[in-house]
Amino acid sequence: MEILQRVPLSDKTTFQIGGEAEFFCEPSTINEVRYVLSLARQNTWRVIVLGGGSNILFADGLIQGLVISTRALSWLREEELLWVGAGMTMDHLTTWAIENGKSGLEWSGGLPGTVGGATYMNARAYQHEMSEVVEKVRVIDFSGKEFFLSHKEIQYSYKKSIFMEHEDWIILEVGLKLHDAPIDDVRTKTEACRRDREQKGQYAYPSAGCAFKNDYSHNLPAGKVIDEIGLKGFSIGGAKVYEKHANFIINTGSARADDVIRLLEEIERLVYEKTGVHLEREVRIIR
Ligand SMILES: Cc1cc2nc3c(=O)[nH]c(=O)nc-3n(C[C@H](O)[C@H](O)[C@H](O)COP(=O)(O)OP(=O)(O)OC[C@H]3O[C@@H](n4cnc5c(N)ncnc54)[C@H](O)[C@@H]3O)c2cc1C
Repeated sequence: MEILQRVPLSDKTTFQIGGEAEFFCEPSTINEVRYVLSLARQNTWRVIVLGGGSNILFADGLIQGLVISTRALSWLREEELLWVGAGMTMDHLTTWAIENGKSGLEWSGGLPGTVGGATYMNARAYQHEMSEVVEKVRVIDFSGKEFFLSHKEIQYSYKKSIFMEHEDWIILEVGLKLHDAPIDDVRTKTEACRRDREQKGQYAYPSAGCAFKNDYSHNLPAGKVIDEIGLKGFSIGGAKVYEKHANFIINTGSARADDVIRLLEEIERLVYEKTGVHLEREVRIIR
């Protein structure tokens, strides 16, 4: 595994935006993760963990430190639980689940990103969420300490997990509990979700999906609030509020990260001014 320097990050995120990583690596084994973390400690590098990059916005310019991409941590092992490497894409996993008649992840058909990212974010769709299938997680912290967390210890709630409070943890692999089901049922449901996303135009432009969390306690979907104050189509530079879904900010082709950040701030300001609602960001900005 090489440690690369000045690696462009725009092709590592679904926004297709962002500057360069000062250092970048893609370990493919847990041993390699241990090694790069010790290297980062020796050199006092900041460490940034990158999964599929479908919920991250890297700022323009140089991102200092070492970006560790989990993408090559991609394996699958059937024991009492189904152990999946953090870097496996959800797409790969749902394809495996279809072929093997395993139910529990149909709702995630077409969800971009990795298993580690979905576990971290408690990704959700169609009234289901990742926490329903995550039983145990294997973690290493930046000091090199390794441990397991049980479902309860992850403290899942709406788009929240304990991982968000520990930016120095790397999810190495995730123990999932899926159950047997007829292959055709799993396929039909998974593909219906994927098709629905396609029909809603979710893949038509580079984006990071929903920019803001919904406020379910007040029954306030962020997209509805943004739409109601007339912001669909509102743009700054190459970043635009998607006409088909007001909670998506899209890169129309030439956006810089700074355009997206300014658009996010402007939406937050206008929504607060006009409705009194404080939007909470879902997309994670790394500078
Ligand atoms: C078109 C589109 C549609 C989307 N639809 C949905 C949706 O319906 N529901 C939904 O919830 N999300 C949705 N998203 C957002 C995104 O796909 C999810 O949040 C996804 O789970 C993020 O996974 P990732 O691997 O891309 O994570 P990344 O974007 O790479 O990272 C997200 C965060 O997780 C951390 N992280 C990632 N992997 C690890 C790891 N192994 N260990 C520790 N930390 C880690 C990163 O540091 C970062 O803070 C959508 C995005 C797009 C582009």
